[in-house]
Parts: sequence; C-alpha cells; structure tokens
Amino acid sequence: MEQRTNRRALVVGLGIAGMSAAVGLREAGWTPVLVERSPERRTGGYFVGLFPEGKQAAKDLGVQEHLHTRNPVSGTEWSIDRRGRHHEWPGFLDQPGEPAAVLRGDIEAALWHSLREDAELEPVEVRFGTRPVEIIDQAEAADVVLEDATGERRRETFDLVVGADGLRSSVRAMVFGPHQEFMESWNAIICAFELDEQVPGYGPQDGVIVARAGRAAWTFGFSDHTPTMLFTYRTDDEDAQFVRPPLETLEAAFDGLDHPAVTHGLQTLRTAPNYLFDSVHQVKMPTWHRGHVVLVGDSAWCLNLYSGMGSSAGLRGGAALGQALKDHPEDLNAALTAWEAQLRPLITTHQKRARLVQHLFVPTGRISEALRNTALRTLAAVNYLKSRLPGAGPSTTSSSTPPGAPATREVTTGENVGSAPGGR
Ligand SMILES: Cc1cc2nc3c(=O)[nH]c(=O)nc-3n(C[C@H](O)[C@H](O)[C@H](O)COP(=O)(O)OP(=O)(O)OC[C@H]3O[C@@H](n4cnc5c(N)ncnc54)[C@H](O)[C@@H]3O)c2cc1C
Repeated sequence: MEQRTNRRALVVGLGIAGMSAAVGLREAGWTPVLVERSPERRTGGYFVGLFPEGKQAAKDLGVQEHLHTRNPVSGTEWSIDRRGRHHEWPGFLDQPGEPAAVLRGDIEAALWHSLREDAELEPVEVRFGTRPVEIIDQAEAADVVLEDATGERRRETFDLVVGADGLRSSVRAMVFGPHQEFMESWNAIICAFELDEQVPGYGPQDGVIVARAGRAAWTFGFSDHTPTMLFTYRTDDEDAQFVRPPLETLEAAFDGLDHPAVTHGLQTLRTAPNYLFDSVHQVKMPTWHRGHVVLVGDSAWCLNLYSGMGSSAGLRGGAALGQALKDHPEDLNAALTAWEAQLRPLITTHQKRARLVQHLFVPTGRISEALRNTALRTLAAVNYLKSRLPGAGPSTTSSSTPPGAPATREVTTGENVGSAPGGR
C-alpha cells in the first residue's frame, strides 16, 4: 500500500536503474522527478539476457506484464571454430536461470509504461534535456543546480538525489570523486547495434558466435526482431581505439577474420542509425551513498556486459531502494545503509564472476580460446546426454543445419574465406 511522505527525490538518468528507482520511490510514497540529458527517450538497443534476479525485480516493481520478451523459438546457436566448422555449442541463453532475451529498450519500455502511461498510477515528472551541474549536500536535504537544454540554470531542493546516470556518472564525479578513482579498465572494447537483417545464409532466429583469441563477433537471434550484433576485442591501448571513427577502428581490429558474421556486421555498421562503441570497465566503490545522495546501477557498480547481469542488477537496485525507504520511513541513512548491505553480496559475486565469464565472450589468448572451446564442447555433450536420459523432456532448442551443409552436428565450412554459410 502506497504511503504518502511528501518527500521529493531527484533521479538522474532515464535508463533501467533510474526508471526502476523512480518506480520504487513512488511505490514508497515519495515524489520522484526524473531528469535525462538526452532530448528524448531512447528505444531499441542491444541484446540483454534477463536473469531470475531481474525478472523477480520486474515483478516486484509491477512491470513484468509489460515486459516483452523475445527468446528464439526455432533458432540454433552456431559457434564457428578456426577450421570453419559449425558447432551447436551452448550460447548465452543456455546459461542456468533460463534468461529472458530482450532488447535493452524492452525493459525501459516496461518501466516507462509504469512511470508515464499507466492510467491507474500517478505519472512521474520527467524532464528531458536536463542535467545536474552542481550538488550541494546540506544537513536536511540536497540542493541541486539543474541546467536545461536552453542553458538555463535553476536551483532546487530534494530530500534525496539518485545518481543513475551510467558508467561515467556525473553525480558520482560531483559527490564521490573523479572517474579514475572508481572505474577499473578491462582493456577491452565493445560495439553493439541492431542488424537490419540476419547474417546471409543463417536462419532468422539463429545466433552466430565467432570467438578467437583477443576478438569475437556475436549475433543474438530473437523470435520477433532482427538479431543484434556485438563486436568485442582486447587492447593494450584503450585511448588509441578512440582516435579514428569506430568503423575504421573495428575494421582494423577484425582484419583477417573474414567470417560472414564479421563482414555483414561491419557492413551494417556503416549505415547503422545507432550503435554503442565503448571501452569495458567495472565500477568499484567502497560505498554507494553519502548524505542525501545515492548511486544506483552502472554508476555505482557497473558489472559490465560480460557479467550479463547489469540490467538485472539495475532493476533489483531500484526495487530494493524503494523497499528500503518504505521500511525506514523516518531515517534516510538507515534506509540507504540497509539497502546497500542487502545488495552488496549480489554485486560482489557478479563482479567476480564476470572475470571468468569474459573468457567465454572473448578469449584473452590461444590457451584461453582452447579452454573455452573445450568447456563448451563438454557442456554440449553433457546436455546432449541429459536429453537422452529416460524421462528427459523434449529438447528446447531445435537442431538445424546451415543451408547447403550436410546434416551433421559439426559442419565444415572452410576456414575464414569470407563465404556465406549457404555457399560452404
Ligand atoms: C553490449 C552490452 C550487452 C549487455 N548485455 C547485458 C545482458 O545480457 N544482461 C544484463 O543484465 N545486462 C547487460 N548489459 C548491461 C546493461 O545494459 C547495463 O548494465 C544497464 O543498461 C545499465 O543501466 P543504467 O540505468 O545503470 O545506466 P545507463 O543505461 O547508462 O543509463 C544512464 C542514463 O543516464 C543518462 N545520463 C547520463 N549522464 C547524465 C547526466 N549528466 N544528466 C542526466 N542524464 C544523464 C543517459 O543518457 C542514460 O539515459 C549489457 C551492456 C552492454 C553494453
């Protein structure tokens, strides 16, 4: 039951964490005001696997009914080895927990519906083109100078400021310290975007994984959407990756890896209306709150994409914040302390786990690549044997064959010759 407190919170950032926090705050009886530096709400995005923690948080926030999921129903996860053979090795969605396949924008759309479009709920104020430029934490509240798109500045008082403004959080920089104090570099780059069509020769819902020492290209299939693409590679010189246009940088990084998934991805990127090109980091902080300011999501703990848990943690963080404020209505510090204590173990676990999982995404070297392939081959064999046990249910993934290839589980395609699978 909603409890009115007449307390105002400024939430900075209209991403998953910010919107989740706003829904949670409203549920706790607070009045959130969301500010977003972009002129409008973003949509679409890249593939996200939502794990049980995230699904439960979506439920707790009351948004699960509006969360559109897109798990492939007929696709195959193809891993292509150095000899060009196709293997049906486990893909991202084959991890324990039955992750739901969504676009990042699907989660944001469900949260937006709750914030602005649900006729039964009080709409939350959202100001686009607006960002905080100064935060002055006082004894009773925080004063924030907000700048809008015209450059006009206005000072307002809030009982709480929630910094949900992502990896390079301005709230974190203003209140806790400079980026370099908290952002740990992983010497890796990612580029993620939507494909306008599947890699030629593959089924519409197939996933295609080409992972080699130091670089990898992944496509993620959906049931009702074109796949999304992820390029990721390792580098010892992060700054040098941002000197040239991203396309040129990626072409150089993937030079010689001539699989159709790579060439198709690079070709699509030439005209892609939106893409994310960035370095990979984790954010590590000794505390996520100070006075009347709290950080949630990537700004506080960025787990990074290799963890596969950033969205789930953002949803959980926002939902838990609302619950903690409800549980401690008279004591903000107690609420934030309890909130952080509850979340820390989850975040620490997944920050550590990402160190291991990164090798599945993009092996660091030839040994890591060989170990990765052995692990996946073993897992595929175990899964196969399990599916043959008496009483095992029907297999959830259908087994398909790339066009033009013989019907075996390992399909020789010819190594790195740039041919489409249909032509192998
Ligand atoms: C390629 C890729 C794949 C991923 N895959 C998965 C996955 O499978 N599973 C998973 O759970 N997670 C995944 N993640 C991670 C997940 O997407 C993020 O952890 C999550 O979206 C972070 O949400 P956020 O709200 O904390 O930050 P963001 O999404 O970064 O949102 C921050 C918002 O704040 C706004 N903002 C920034 N600065 C200001 C400012 N000064 N003033 C006002 N507004 C500001 C931004 O415009 C943005 O809208 C993936 C990430 C990537 C990059």
